[in-house]
Amino acid sequence: MTDHDALLAATPTQLLIDGRFVPAASGETFATLNPATGAAIAQVALGGTEDVDRAVAAARAALDGAWGRMKPAERQAILLRLADLVARDFEPLALLDTLEMGRPITSTRAMQDIVVRALRHFAGLATAIHGQTLANSFAVELLSYTVKEPIGVVGAIIPWNGPLFSAAWKIAPALAAGCTIVLKPAEDASLSPLRFGALCMEAGVPAGVVNIVTGMGATGSALSDHPDVDKITFTGSCETGQKIIRQSAGSVKRVTMELGGKSPNILFADADLERAIPAAAMGVFNNAGQVCAAGTRLFVERPIYEEVVARVAAFADTLRVGPGLDPASQIGPLVSARQYARVQSYLDAGPEDGARLVTGGRRLTDGPLATGHYVAPPGFADVTDDMRIAREEIFGPVMSIFPFDGFDEVIARANATRFGLAGGVWTRDITKAHAAVRRIRAGTVWVNHYFAMDPSVPFGGYKMSGYGREGGFEHVESYLNTKSVWIRTD
Ligand code: NAD
Repeated sequence: MTDHDALLAATPTQLLIDGRFVPAASGETFATLNPATGAAIAQVALGGTEDVDRAVAAARAALDGAWGRMKPAERQAILLRLADLVARDFEPLALLDTLEMGRPITSTRAMQDIVVRALRHFAGLATAIHGQTLANSFAVELLSYTVKEPIGVVGAIIPWNGPLFSAAWKIAPALAAGCTIVLKPAEDASLSPLRFGALCMEAGVPAGVVNIVTGMGATGSALSDHPDVDKITFTGSCETGQKIIRQSAGSVKRVTMELGGKSPNILFADADLERAIPAAAMGVFNNAGQVCAAGTRLFVERPIYEEVVARVAAFADTLRVGPGLDPASQIGPLVSARQYARVQSYLDAGPEDGARLVTGGRRLTDGPLATGHYVAPPGFADVTDDMRIAREEIFGPVMSIFPFDGFDEVIARANATRFGLAGGVWTRDITKAHAAVRRIRAGTVWVNHYFAMDPSVPFGGYKMSGYGREGGFEHVESYLNTKSVWIRTD
């Protein structure tokens, strides 16, 4: 037995319902694949409507039972224990993400800091929930105040591009708020969320508070349709988000939507290129481009355009593409054959529409790469705003580089997208930076940086990138209801 066999043998593959790992009611399973080799690594329970019903019933019973009566400080203590356990077991958790979705091991290991910090951060907020005493303006003989109450049973549906992070990022603030939760991981990456579920049990999360139902889109659909789910929090594509919004309307659920993006990254001529070039390149190529906030549209001011194109291409050429388990790999394989086909269709569309390929773009098949879905990170120059690669979210490592001439022009072009998740601005001119920040229509803007994230800072979309914020107190707030209380005092 190899180390990886032992890791997989110790990882749950069944549904977590009411504190126990159980098979799907149908007894069915599905294979989860290693994108570096194409080999099946585990058979995971295929949850269906009946399993979702059982999980939601367990979550409701837990909410109405001991969990609903638990003090904030007790929930806090459980979350802090969970943070310690996740830190203790981070190596196997990181390995599972690398094995299942291909991300390089150095990168999945590096997630420890943000995942553990997020758990501790949300633990802290469990005891910071508070209402207000309100001076009502005319009824002086009445005292009014608000109390915050958990919204109830939460259904959380997550994508595959950061499975452990997404599971922790959904579960911890919901628990801090006093909610119970049913999590539906993505079909391409179920294992680290399941192992995280086992750690929740070890940390003392009572049965029924955290449930995990693995499966396909239909499993998520059963959750968004369920009349006894009070809130859906979804991270994934815009198209799936729209379906979920329509479904959740049936029982008027609260909804948080973290959707896709086509984020602009703007390099003004006075930018510090030593910093900007690697950050702009990794702002697209990190995690093989499978990042919602990727700065896939790089706008470069005309005087530095050719220099930036050449330097970005030279930087991309140095990136080591390889199996995620190799610590030297900086870019792993794409997650699946389906995702590779999607990226390939845009690699074809770029030149067809007249873009100039300046780096990468080839499928890599040498040696150990023959079995996976590897692509040398592609950069296209001379892209125009109407090209398919410029307009559509690819969710792969495809960079489009555009020249621009003026401030108003670039802001208008940066905003000419249905998305508004993030944006970047590179300049040494503080006035220009502030002016750009004000005018970019996106939920996050980084200045002279790309990709910083912290549990204390809200993250989320404008426009069709979604609504609601995750991170910060707003994240906990999104799992709370406000109750107004009036008391006659005379
Ligand atoms: P996806 O929408 O295909 O799937 C996401 C999840 O939804 C999966 O668990 C899937 O099984 C489930 N699902 C599919 N159909 C469903 C349905 N009809 N009802 C309910 N659930 C359903 O997205 P993906 O391919 O897994 O992820 C990529 C997308 O996620 C990209 O668009 C990316 O930008 C976005 N994303 C956004 C953020 C963010 O924070 N804004 C973060 C990561 C990824």
